[in-house]
Amino acid sequence: MELRYFSAGKSLALDTGSCIGCGRCVEVCPHAVFSINDRLAAIEVRDRCMECGACGRNCPTGAITVKSGVGCAFAIINGMVSGKEPSCDCDGPESPRKNRKACC
Ligand code: SF4
Ligand code: SF4
Repeated sequence: MELRYFSAGKSLALDTGSCIGCGRCVEVCPHAVFSINDRLAAIEVRDRCMECGACGRNCPTGAITVKSGVGCAFAIINGMVSGKEPSCDCDGPESPRKNRKACC
């Protein structure tokens, strides 16, 4: 069964002009969102993106931007409880996950 997420990668953006084709995004993405075509990254299946942020954190050139955490269940619930934008607040001072290296 293929997983689909609440916000389905809406915040994920790729600037191919900054991409050097290193393939890190392909390696770190847990849902095979990216592929390398003609030596540049491409968003293959946006709907699989759970906005974990791993690709943006690992891209050496900053070619990827993604608002991490907005698509995960923790973020949705956090947003409902706080009345703010969904955020898992992985790096925030109050986050129980603040000492984790990877978000979500
Ligand atoms: S990690 Fe960044 S530079 Fe490397 S292939 Fe992916 S988008 Fe391009
Ligand atoms: S945010 Fe996570 S799931 Fe989405 S493309 Fe990047 S690594 Fe893959």
